[in-house]
Amino acid sequence: MGETLEALHRLQSIELQLAEIRRDREAKARRVEYHKRQIRKAEEKLAIGQAAIRERQVRADALQLEAASFEESIDKHRQALNTAKTNKEYAAILTAMNTEKADCAKLETQVLQELDSIQGLRDEAAKIEASVVKLSEEAVQFEAALRKHDGKWKKQRDALQADRDVCADKVPPAALATFNRVAEHHDGEALVPVAKLHPKREDFICSGCNMKLTLEVINSLHTRDEIQVCTVCGRILHLETPPTVQRTRT
Ligand SMILES: [Zn+2]
Repeated sequence: MGETLEALHRLQSIELQLAEIRRDREAKARRVEYHKRQIRKAEEKLAIGQAAIRERQVRADALQLEAASFEESIDKHRQALNTAKTNKEYAAILTAMNTEKADCAKLETQVLQELDSIQGLRDEAAKIEASVVKLSEEAVQFEAALRKHDGKWKKQRDALQADRDVCADKVPPAALATFNRVAEHHDGEALVPVAKLHPKREDFICSGCNMKLTLEVINSLHTRDEIQVCTVCGRILHLETPPTVQRTRT
């Protein structure tokens, strides 16, 4: 293996470690963000629920007031019955009073319905509040995990970055540019081995994308210290010594 490829191998090993740290951090950051989003959604739902409770409470209060004024009127009519001078007057008062009683009963039913709805909304709000508490506790834990990760990995990341700079100096600029581009595209995996499909046949494939490679590419890898990229996936090819059968990609 030529010097360039050797340096690229070291570079890739560093790059893969950096990519792992990055992935780990991104997963932790995503978890924090997800929880914050869930909390915001729950709080919005809670605000809507509380507004609905207030609205229904106002309606229930108004209905109760109306029912109370009916009660008062019914009381007055009841007293009036005792002082009625004629049967006709008595009957008229009784009819008015019964109508009011019926209306009052209707109002009371409506009040009960409103109060039932309010209780349902309150139960729902209590559940949402409990979920907000739980989500907030989890978010605190996940944020702590993220901070811990940053503290723990910062030194290692800085050290890897420094190593990477040293290695990069040993790679020709054009090859380095290719490496950087491919590494960014394939999450650190810029180099892939050439795989031999069959032990007895000269059939080779890129183990990054499983596409067939020409013998010209293979020969060039054997004889020159220049990078060869797979024309399909763009990864930088290298020969494992000796080229082995295709590895299982995960
Ligand atoms: Zn490929």
